[in-house]
Parts: sequence; structure tokens; C-alpha cells
Amino acid sequence: MSLDGVAELIQRFEKIKERHPGAIPYSASFGRSKKPHLVISAIIHGDEVGTLPALVSLMEELDVGKFEFRGKLSFVLGNIPAARINQRYIDRDLNRSFGLKEVKLDEEKRALELEDLISDADLYVDLHQTIESSLDGFHITAFHKESYEWARIVGRPGKFVTHDPDEGFSTAGICSDEFAQNRAIPSMSIEFFQKGFSKEAEISTKEFLANLLNQASLHLGKPASEIKSLSKEKNSLEVFWIMYREKLQSREDRLVENMSNLQEVKAGEVLGVRSDNLSIVAPETGLILFPKYPHKLHPAATLPESLFVLAQAREDLDP
Ligand SMILES: [Zn+2]
Repeated sequence: MSLDGVAELIQRFEKIKERHPGAIPYSASFGRSKKPHLVISAIIHGDEVGTLPALVSLMEELDVGKFEFRGKLSFVLGNIPAARINQRYIDRDLNRSFGLKEVKLDEEKRALELEDLISDADLYVDLHQTIESSLDGFHITAFHKESYEWARIVGRPGKFVTHDPDEGFSTAGICSDEFAQNRAIPSMSIEFFQKGFSKEAEISTKEFLANLLNQASLHLGKPASEIKSLSKEKNSLEVFWIMYREKLQSREDRLVENMSNLQEVKAGEVLGVRSDNLSIVAPETGLILFPKYPHKLHPAATLPESLFVLAQAREDLDP
């Protein structure tokens, strides 16, 4: 991880935002009209910097007028202080800090600013990366019909992982995409490979953003019925439903080494061991997501809720 690389990208972002100031700190806005409004955020988790090269390059192209967005296009960097020291967050996970009634910590205050910007969006997109390695990029968001329709329209990345909206992705607080969906704003949250700079993260982010801007420029602001029929015509997503979460019980829980996001496991396969030597077993065949290695965490870090989750293909979610 190159901290110089991060600082340089933030500096390039700052230069652009001086010419195209956005509505909140560390945001930039382009476009002649106020609506429809597409909002794109990155580094809400400070160490997930691999989407920045493509994002900042795109902003530079907009800056020199290489192309224009129909409507308003805002970019925002979520957690700059954490990014500068290559950490997910400083005091509290920013992506579990939305929708709070009282704010005290810096990340809670930042979430409040972001809420202002997101509330004005007609489509909200949040760029992330996974902690461990990933076999591909993928969408990860609660099932929300209008959000799913937009994911189909954009078409990339081709894997759409979703879950019951009543089952919060984390019970520790609300994510930015949940915040948007709770306000009936379609949103996408996407993982672009493992955190940090890589060619695959850069290329997949670039391809995604190109498709997103293209499709949003054409269709954002159209009536819901048109968006729905557009999304029906496009059918390139593979949908996976999260059907199981393995609870993390202690810092001593050990998954087998080097599990990747989207790795397939078979029912009954031994995936690790608990501190009491009991095996951790895959309850069903499916794809592993968000594998955790708690012993690698900083001793003061809050333990995640799940050791891994399991998702299975679903074919019955057509709009
Ligand atoms: Zn993230």
C-alpha cells in the first residue's frame, strides 16, 4: 500500500473540487442542472483506496470537458483522515454511522454531512473493496426493487449479492446505501476486489463508472415504469442471496487460510475451527463472502459480527 499514492490522489481530487465545489466538504459537483442527481462516494472505508485512480481520472476528464453529464454529478470522498493512515476508520466505522440521532465522534459527524448529499440524490453509488481477496467484483446491497433495476441497467459488475432488507447487513448501525434506500433512493454498493491498489480494481472500477455514467446520462430521471421495463430488457446479472451468517464467537475463531470472496464451498466442508476445537462447517453449498480473520485485527478493534456469510444463486428476482 502506497500512502504517497493515496496522498497524491487526494491532492488531485482537491484540485478539481476547487473548480467544481460540491455541497459538502470533500465533494465535487459537475453539470449544468440540479436534477437528476447522481452521487458517487468512495473511501467511506478509509483503506479501500483501489477505486480512487479510476474515480479521479474520470473527474479529470469531466474537468477538461471531455464529456458532460446530463444533470448533476457529485463525487465525495468519505473518510479522508482514515485513508491517510491506511485504516478502515478512526473511531467508528463510517459505514455503520448513518441514520444516528445523536452524533459525537468525527465519523458520526461525517455521516451526517454525507446524509445531506445522499438525500438529494436520484441514484446513489458507493464504491468499496473487500478486506480479503475476491474472485470478482460484486454488488452487495439489501434487496430493494429500484436499486436492483438500476444494477441490471448498468450491468456491471455481473454479480449481484443481496439479502433480505429486514435483515440489516450489520446491526451495529446503518450503511450509506441503506440510508438512501430508506428514503426510496435507488442505490448501489459495490466491492471492487481486495482493498488497496491493483490493476483489477482499477480496470473494473473504470468499466463500471463508464457504464454507470452512460446509462445514468441516458435514463436517470425517467418515470419508474420506464426504468422497470428498461431493466427487464437487460438480463446480465447473476443474483446471489445471502442465506446464512456464521456468527463470530471469539478472537480465536480460525477460518482456513486464504479464503476468497465468492469462493465456492460444499455443504459439510470444514471451513475452520473454534477456540474449543470444534469444527466450523459449511451448512450448505454456496459462495463464501466476507471471510474474517479476527486474530489479524488490531487488539482494540471492534470484532465483526460474522465470521463469514454464505450466498446462493437465485433466479426468481426478475423485476
Ligand atoms: Zn467497505
